[in-house]
Amino acid sequence: MQDKLRILRGLDSRALPCGCLVGVYETYESETVAIIDVKGSACVNPDHRIDAPVNLQPPSTIPTISR
Ligand SMILES: [Zn+2]
Repeated sequence: MQDKLRILRGLDSRALPCGCLVGVYETYESETVAIIDVKGSACVNPDHRIDAPVNLQPPSTIPTISR
């Protein structure tokens, strides 16, 4: 794993519940990564720093259909 992510292009940006804004980028390895763009003023997560990669929870892990 390289120290610096090689960004091919930006795909999306979204806000986290903590208030941080993350940019979603595609790398040259065709992976999708999310990187903190703006630190939320109310965010208390020490892992959320500008340019720090974060894991976005895939929507499929959230049960949206209850049977
Ligand atoms: Zn945050």
